[in-house]
Amino acid sequence: MKTYISHLIEDMQQAAKSLPAKPYLELSEDDECLRGVIEYESIEPKPMQEWFGIEKANFPPAEKLSNDELKLMVKEIIKLWKAYNFDPVLPKNLPARITYQTLVNYFDKPVIWVSEGIIGVEFCEYDPQNCPFPSEYCMCKDFENDFNTDADDFEPGLCIDNSYEITILDKELSEIAENKLPEAPIVNKLEKYVNQLIGDLNFAVEKRKNQPNIPDNIEIRSANSLIDLIKGPFKTLEDLTGISQSVFPDHIDMNGIQTREVLKVLLKLLDVYKLKIYYPKELPFEFKYQTLADEWNECYVKDLPDSGDDIDFCTGEPQTCPFGEYCDCGDNDFDFSDDEPPEPDTENNSEKDIDMPF
Ligand SMILES: [Zn+2]
Ligand SMILES: [Zn+2]
Repeated sequence: MKTYISHLIEDMQQAAKSLPAKPYLELSEDDECLRGVIEYESIEPKPMQEWFGIEKANFPPAEKLSNDELKLMVKEIIKLWKAYNFDPVLPKNLPARITYQTLVNYFDKPVIWVSEGIIGVEFCEYDPQNCPFPSEYCMCKDFENDFNTDADDFEPGLCIDNSYEITILDKELSEIAENKLPEAPIVNKLEKYVNQLIGDLNFAVEKRKNQPNIPDNIEIRSANSLIDLIKGPFKTLEDLTGISQSVFPDHIDMNGIQTREVLKVLLKLLDVYKLKIYYPKELPFEFKYQTLADEWNECYVKDLPDSGDDIDFCTGEPQTCPFGEYCDCGDNDFDFSDDEPPEPDTENNSEKDIDMPF
């Protein structure tokens, strides 16, 4: 098996060097930057093995390979894919055996090769019922918003969506319900309004979910994300969602349950737009809510229905960062690169302070 594998690896390395010729396209110089997208629209898909010139049948079944051989093969197959601008989207920590089988199985699937840009190849469609990966490895089950999930089990960095934040809120809300967490006195003034707002926001989530404009085909989705990325304008969250910033009450006018419930549905709304928000780890929920509400018509994102976009309100500077002391962006400040001493803290720069009501 050893010699067979090293031959196969040599073939893959050879294939990685002999890419197909750039297709001839009549492109002006200005349009050359769109080459990948235009190629994508004009090239016929072919089974991956035809692009590579290496048949799926050449790959031994996973059970014939040792763990080390599997790891080596996975590394080499991914190198080959990347040489052809195919980027496999795989769950973190997936065992080599499953990764190998997943990649090899794809060799007879039709794909479009582009000379420029990257084609993301997703195997999971975020539908746990039809997920090709064992459930302990794939994040798609988190989309189901499992109420029983313990927030401690999550690594926030691994989540591609806001499920980590939502899980924290769910946990706190159920602890309040069980009286484990102290809760501020109920503010009833806005009860009706807040309930209506939560209903409206949930409606916006469902409406977006049911928009049929996301193609089913994974290859088309990848190409669209390229086009979105190039052509899509930046929008505020207000423009993107059509929900005015003025509908959000100040957090001091709501109680902790209401603030958490509104924040939770806002995070779900970001999820359906594939926007992942970054908060400092210890940031209290009312800060999370208030920064999001305040930045609703200030921060700009791209509407990328396929790849999504990130939201991070941290400005990188403690003077302007809305997360204030909760953010670690101030930490680098102790590294003064020049010889000048840090500016003494004077009373008169208090105007620069962020006006946070808490
Ligand atoms: Zn999955
Ligand atoms: Zn910051």
